[in-house]
This record gives sequence, C-alpha cells and structure tokens, in this order.
Amino acid sequence: MYKLLEAFAWETVVRPDPVRERRLAELSALVAAAQEDDGYLNTFFGPRGPDQRYTDLAHGHELYCAGHLFQAAVARLRAGVEDDLTRTAIRLADRIYEDFGPDGLAGSDGHHEVEVGLMELYRATGHVRYRDLAGHFIEQRGHQTSEHHAIGHEYYLDDVPVREATVLRGHVVRAMYLTAGAVDLAVETGDGELLRALINQWENTWARRTYVTGGMGSRHLGESFGRDFELPPDRAYTETCGAVGAIMVAWRLLLATGESHYADAIERLLYNMIATSPNAEGDRFFYVNPLLAREPGIATAEGVAPFREDTLRATWFWVACCPTNVVRLLSSLSGYFATVRGDALTLQQYFTGEISTRLQDGRKVRLDVTTDYPWGGTVTVRVGQSPGRWTLRLRVPLWADGATLEHDGEVQAVEAGYASVTRQWDAGDVVVLHLPMAARLIQPDSHIDALRGTAAVQRGPLVYCAESVVSSDGAVDLETFRLDPGTRLESVPAAGPNDTAEVVRVRGVVTRPEPDRAWPYVEPSTAGAPAPAADVDLQPTTAEIDLVPYYAWSNRGPSTMRVWIPLSEGAPGQSPRTRP
Ligand SMILES: [Zn+2]
Repeated sequence: MYKLLEAFAWETVVRPDPVRERRLAELSALVAAAQEDDGYLNTFFGPRGPDQRYTDLAHGHELYCAGHLFQAAVARLRAGVEDDLTRTAIRLADRIYEDFGPDGLAGSDGHHEVEVGLMELYRATGHVRYRDLAGHFIEQRGHQTSEHHAIGHEYYLDDVPVREATVLRGHVVRAMYLTAGAVDLAVETGDGELLRALINQWENTWARRTYVTGGMGSRHLGESFGRDFELPPDRAYTETCGAVGAIMVAWRLLLATGESHYADAIERLLYNMIATSPNAEGDRFFYVNPLLAREPGIATAEGVAPFREDTLRATWFWVACCPTNVVRLLSSLSGYFATVRGDALTLQQYFTGEISTRLQDGRKVRLDVTTDYPWGGTVTVRVGQSPGRWTLRLRVPLWADGATLEHDGEVQAVEAGYASVTRQWDAGDVVVLHLPMAARLIQPDSHIDALRGTAAVQRGPLVYCAESVVSSDGAVDLETFRLDPGTRLESVPAAGPNDTAEVVRVRGVVTRPEPDRAWPYVEPSTAGAPAPAADVDLQPTTAEIDLVPYYAWSNRGPSTMRVWIPLSEGAPGQSPRTRP
C-alpha cells in the first residue's frame, strides 16, 4: 500500500488526476487513522500491544514497512505538498528515532529499506536525526548478530560490515535497498571510503553476479545471489524487485560519480527486467524472470495464486511485492531521464518528450526530444528555450560502436560515454545522435559454466530470446535448435498480432532426435555412441527462427523460451561430437 501511495504521489505531479488525488487522500487518511498516539504505526504488531513492538525484527518487516511509508511521504514532499501522509511519516520517523536512536534498542530490521527511507526523508526535511539513525542502522550491520537463517548471516547482509564487503551477496532486494541507503549516507556525509567500498561491491556484482538482462539472484533459496559466475539461465531467480533496487543503486552511483556505465545499467534493467515483469495489458506480472523455460507455464484456476517461479505472468502471487514496486518506478521514471551539473544538461535515457529544467545557476532550458528508440537509433534533440551558452551532453551506450553526432551540418564519430557540445544555443538548434541498431551476437564469459557453448542476441539495449510460439514456420522445437555462429542477424518487421515492432531472424540447424541412451555420459572416444539404427536420419536440417525481445515473451500464451541458444557443432566452445 505504501508503494502504491508513493506511485500515486509521483503520478499527481506528472499526470494530475482528481480521481487519483482523492484516492490518495482517502488512503492517506486511512494510514493516519491507524497511527497510535505515540506515533507508532504497524497494523500487524500495533494492535497486539506496545510490548509486542519490535519482537520479530528479523522477519516482521516492521521497519521495512516504515521505510516505504517514508519514501511515499518523500514523493509528496518533493511535490511541495504536506498532508496526512507526510505528517504520519514524520511522526513515525520520530517514534523510531526515540526507540532506536541514542541509548535506544539494539538491532534493526531483517529486511533493509528503513535506511534508504530515512536518508530520503532527511533530504526532504533537513532533519539530521533521520540521517544519523540511517547511519546507525547501516553501520551496525555485518557483526553477525542476526537471527539464524538457512543461508547464514549473509542473507541479511550481516556477515561483513558494509564498508568492508567486496561484493553484494545474500538476499538480492535487501542487498540493493541497503546499498542504496548506504550510498546516500556516503554522499551526504562526504564519506569517500564508504562510497569507494560500495562502488567496488557494485562493480564486482555487475561483472560476476548479473545476468545479461541485468537481473540478479541465481538462487531460489533465500532469493539470493549465487557465487561469482553462478548464473544458470533456467534457475535464475532474478526477482523483479531486485531490478527496481538495482536501478535505485545505479542511479545513486551515476549521480555520485557521473560515469555513464551506471546509466547503461539502468537502461539494461529498464528494457529487459522492468519491462518484462508486466504483461502487455499491465494486469499480470512476473515475480521471477528466468532466461530459459524448458516447459510452457500452466495457467492456474481463477483466484489461485500460482507458484512464484511459474513461467506465466499472474494477477497475484503469495508475496506481491513486485507490481507496486514496478508502478512506483514507472511513475517516477521521468526523474531518471536527464541530469544537470553546473552548466551542463545530460540526457541519460532516450524517449520522446520535453525536458524543461534549470541549469545549476538557475538559467532555464527546454528541449524537445524525438525518437523511436529502442527500435530506431536516431535521437533528435531540438532546443526550445536557451539561456545562451551551456553544454548539452548525450549518453552513448557502451554497445553503440560507430555512433555519430550531427550538428551544425557536421557529422562526427562519438565514443561510448558522453558526447558533449558546448556553445551558444538558440531556440530551434538541432542535434541528432545516431546509434547503430544492428543486432549483435553476444558471447558469455567462459567462466559462466551454465552458458558455455551458447550465444544470445542483443539489438540496441534489448536482449532477444527464442520463443516456441513464434518460430517462423511454427514447428521448430527450441530444445533441438542450434544457432549457426556465423548466422546473419536480420531485423524484420514482426508479423501477425504482436506487441513488438521488430524481430530478429537467425539461422541455425535443427538436430534430429537421437536414439535413447541409457546413460547420458560417455567417454570422448565413443561420443555419439551408440550407433544409430540405419533407418534413423541424424543429419541436421537448417532452419530459421525469429527471436523476439525478451520483455515480450510469454505474452502470447504458454511457451518455452531461451535467451542463450546452444551453438551448432564445431562452433567455438562446443564440445565435438561425432555423427554418422
Ligand atoms: Zn518482489
């Protein structure tokens, strides 16, 4: 409910709507009415009496819920509104400060969130005690005082102090929320040592514990990270909320460092994780986001919540944290598109719309951006209002090899990072960024055992997948398809009812079923044995299949799906097998 309130609060700024505004006021009043006289608020523990408060910090999500209320209130405060919601949140924050602040209770919530909520509330109100309390919660983590969990103290990120850790581990969403709060703390207190530790943790996590979709979390047990390079596509947990949290962290690191690869990470997460969770209509969603589905999902009866890892989107899961997390992110998305520093305005993400903002010295700038990205790679930026001389910067994604920038009748090559133009800008001036959108074959790092001998296809920021329901002849069994490593990657308009503009056609072979083996492991010298019966044709036949963007999979009924496709025989990394 707090995440929904946060989404409503952002929406009232972007798309004012009296019906939603009334609903927001009603829900805020409901929340305020549940608050106790001393400011405490939690409808599970509260009615059981004051002595029941904070009795199950490890699993009760008591402070976690408070953190989400704080973020909802911050969305309201950012809009310049003080109301029931903001007053309730501030009273609760003061209560928690009384209870856990100096000389207060030990311990903190098993599910991080209150830290980042308090940091944001500090920024919005200027009350230093919220920052200090967040710092207290963050610094006491890592001393192995948390309750037992099957995967150990790392489940709660309580195995190593935040400033000593070298990689993110344990429960993915907890890790992301804690890290987001810790980055805020480092920035607000000028703690360079803490910031460097957090950057190091993110870099190691991104390099070794992240799927090509940007998803994180390869273990279902504890909804957790696996070890380095433990990235099985079929057992990927990659919870949608983990992607929301990863965007929160990447955004903070982008602001703290100004480095474009954090904006690249946000883009990857947006197009391949956030966009994947809801269906085309927006009324069903994924909780987990695997990269390989060997069997089509099975629709559950009306009113029955399916298991989280089902490969069909559902209206509801037993734990329904993800949909409102997606909603609050999408409602605040306009805040992620551009940044200002000094006299430079930087476009971090590409979309069609208007940017109206001020440079740091207060001068007003307005830009109109036109693009059909990510289908097309042309981004046209027209200056609508200009205060004279300033710098326009455009992000060039790491994958955009061969990008060019066109302005003043000149075309110049631009490299990954930021393309920058400083000059006197006048209304009507136009800059055009061209990003190469040809589909590319992607190979996994050889350390990722589960992906050896496979490749994936990416076009622009979109990761593609093979889906059983949309093979070009409708008959290819994905289990038998092997991708030709030299295949052309041909972008073609999507045919038939589809929610994607283009598909990528690839060539490969379909292997014929082999005679049953009693045992699937053979010595290399006899690979391929036993000899087939003479009447079984084992010659592979060539086939073409159309890959769809990963975000669009499972939108056309139950299907099997593969992001990583095995390469055909003789391809690098594929173990040789003899055939008759
Ligand atoms: Zn979730």
